[in-house]
Amino acid sequence: RCGYVAIVGRPNVGKSTLLNHILGQKLAITSRKPQTTRHNMLGIKTEDNVQAIYVDTPGLHKQNDKALNRYMNKTASAALKDVDVVVFVVDRTRWTEEDQLVLERLQYVQGPLLIAVNKADRLEDKTELLPHLEWLAQQLPNAEVVPISALHGQNLDTLERLVAERL
Ligand code: GDP
Ligand code: MG
Repeated sequence: RCGYVAIVGRPNVGKSTLLNHILGQKLAITSRKPQTTRHNMLGIKTEDNVQAIYVDTPGLHKQNDKALNRYMNKTASAALKDVDVVVFVVDRTRWTEEDQLVLERLQYVQGPLLIAVNKADRLEDKTELLPHLEWLAQQLPNAEVVPISALHGQNLDTLERLVAERL
């Protein structure tokens, strides 16, 4: 099985960290500062009979007049076309207007969708996820929800298995 996997989400949720951990190398630049990823980055993971081509996107920003922001939004949106699986990365500790923006775009996506609830390492009580999570799952009824920690590699095997099943 082989296909394209788009990693989308607002800036700073951990998309590039996720790609790097999956690939086991520092391909995409990660940073606490938003707008570190300006272009779509491709990373190919080949294993047994599965080849997943991950596309790390710049993240969708609130639209404004800045040319860079417009460019980055266009780039991130383009990645949503012609992909086999979309991984929507959210930060379990924070839901913002920009997450909302991404969600609105994703409601038009036809193919399989996974919601990766990242930074699972951040809160003490592992059962208490993002307060919006239940609501979020209702907004995207066909999506599967997976809690992960991109930084520590928690549950990425599950995420990768779910991706592979959908390629
Ligand atoms: P992107 O803008 O979505 O690509 O986000 P980055 O991958 O650049 O990460 C933004 C910040 O979040 C960086 O400081 C990362 O180290 C941090 N981060 C990413 N994943 C995790 C995680 O699972 N846990 C924690 N605690 N921090 C994370
Ligand atoms: Mg990035």
